[in-house]
Order: sequence, then C-alpha cells, then structure tokens
Amino acid sequence: MFSKESEYICDRCRSYETVELRPKYTLAVGVVFLGLGAWTFSIPVIGLILTAFAGICLLISPFLIKLHYCKNCKNIWKVK
Ligand SMILES: [Zn+2]
Repeated sequence: MFSKESEYICDRCRSYETVELRPKYTLAVGVVFLGLGAWTFSIPVIGLILTAFAGICLLISPFLIKLHYCKNCKNIWKVK
C-alpha cells in the first residue's frame, strides 16, 4: 500500500521492523481519487470526501520522499 519493506534499521531502537513510505504511490492514489472526486462531484458528501482525500494525498506526497517508519517504536526519520 502506502509503504514497502525497508532495508534500513531503526536509528532509535535498532529494530528491523521498518518500512519505507512511497510518495509516488501516494501521488498516484491522489490523482485517481481526484478523478473520482471530479466524476462524483455532483453527489453531495461523497464527491467532497473523495476530493478532500485526493487533496491530502497530493499535499503529503512530496514530504514522504526518503521517509522511513519504524513499526516497533513508531519512529519516523529521513534517510540522507
Ligand atoms: Zn524503532
């Protein structure tokens, strides 16, 4: 989904239970939902929810580049 298995070790707890976030996937989801939102825009609530979800995906995707997440201690860090 929005993340994949990461080869990095958590820099806080040294856990191998880490995932890499996927900005391109999030961007693609945002574009798809923007299309769905435009298509269903005449339907109250549903069109608005889809468009809002699309907007969130498009807005956060640039911030997910090189971000890794630890499932063990919920740490999020950026790989240089
Ligand atoms: Zn950790």
